[in-house]
Amino acid sequence: MKGRWFTKAILVVLMLVLATSLVTLAASCATRTEATDKIGVAVTILPQADFMESVGGEKVDITIMIPPGASPHTYEPTPSQITALSKAKMYAKVGSGVGFELVWLDKLVDANKKMLVVDCSQGIELQEMLGENEHEGEKHEHGAMDPHIWMSPLNAQIMVQNIYEGLVQVDPDNMTYYEQNRDDYLQKLTKLDQDIRDGLSRITNRVFMVYHPAFGYFAKDYNLTMLLIEEEGKEPTAADIAHLIEQAKEYNIKVVFASPQFNPKSARVIADAIDGKIVFINPLAKEYIVNLRILLDELVLAME
Ligand SMILES: [Zn+2]
Repeated sequence: MKGRWFTKAILVVLMLVLATSLVTLAASCATRTEATDKIGVAVTILPQADFMESVGGEKVDITIMIPPGASPHTYEPTPSQITALSKAKMYAKVGSGVGFELVWLDKLVDANKKMLVVDCSQGIELQEMLGENEHEGEKHEHGAMDPHIWMSPLNAQIMVQNIYEGLVQVDPDNMTYYEQNRDDYLQKLTKLDQDIRDGLSRITNRVFMVYHPAFGYFAKDYNLTMLLIEEEGKEPTAADIAHLIEQAKEYNIKVVFASPQFNPKSARVIADAIDGKIVFINPLAKEYIVNLRILLDELVLAME
């Protein structure tokens, strides 16, 4: 008797397990069908993916060309990325002269001529790369303009608006949805801008030193001075390093900012010489607002 009860119990458990897995299977099938309804869109860098996700929400399926850890100045796309792009309805390029786009964008568009290309930099005034005169005669990878427009929240607002307009063009049926999302996100960016202004308002020594020059637009918008170690792939010479150490001492700099995409050997040399430390800020982090708040906190700590 006891044995039969046991068998029954096992049967019940087995049926429950089966039922649960059937439900799970059904659910995953449902998600998959939904995914095909989404609009295929592509962006170059991770912060743009955050903008795209914030406006496009559940309506978009995003392909990100530059994966975490890679440099947008040198990256080459993989075959699977090119396949994903062949189905995309829209490509949001940074548009400010990012190396990857200069080399690859025409080829990517050739492979999918129906894809709408949105220029996120439209309406943003490009500025020259800082420190250009320091290394006279050397040519920039991007010409003389600074491609890192997204690092200023004011520029981010324009980029978000450009992405919104592109989405409405490829998917006008969901305009109200995109509009609401855009407004919510723009509000967060406005708050971020105000918090940065407030946070930096009591700083008097407004000079900071970076390895990779990704903060030129940020520096301009918040009235800061950025001292550069590297210039888009060019390591400083021994004389440059000596000069930077002098400058760092003159401005009482204690922190050298570096980006995880680049090997900061020279940054280490300078930090050691001024008895300071290296702080990593990733200009390509996906969580844009969180990342800019980290930058703000680190800048305040470094300059106050
Ligand atoms: Zn860069």
